[in-house]
Amino acid sequence: MSNCLFCKIVAGEIPSSKVYEDDQIFVFNDISPKAAVHLLVIPKIHIVSLDDLTSEHQVLIAYMMLKLPELARAQGLDDGFRTIINTGPGGGQEVGHLHLHILGGKGMPGFN
Ligand code: AMP
Ligand code: ZN
Repeated sequence: MSNCLFCKIVAGEIPSSKVYEDDQIFVFNDISPKAAVHLLVIPKIHIVSLDDLTSEHQVLIAYMMLKLPELARAQGLDDGFRTIINTGPGGGQEVGHLHLHILGGKGMPGFN
């Protein structure tokens, strides 16, 4: 999508602090971290939110989920991590490209 912030990050048109990339996903540091470790994991293809998933995305979403422990461990989060996905305005989603937050380490916010 031409006007999507995260598509532009994937394309390298907007700089990011990348920590991992493969053919399906792109992972980078959140620009405004809410904990010592705060990553965003996104699919390279443009999907707005969980609300827009279809059965065509089944393998991609499973792939993203299966990658999370490895990504967290690579950040030193050996004893666990938190994942958050905000969906739509009611869920507090600010960027309209599906993204999964990985949070951990010092300063991790509570559930409120
Ligand atoms: P959400 O509220 O779930 O849509 O989360 C959007 C996240 O994207 C927020 O945590 C922002 O800090 C983060 N963010 C916004 N712009 C950028 C950017 N250019 N690079 C990295 N993270 C960003
Ligand atoms: Zn996008």
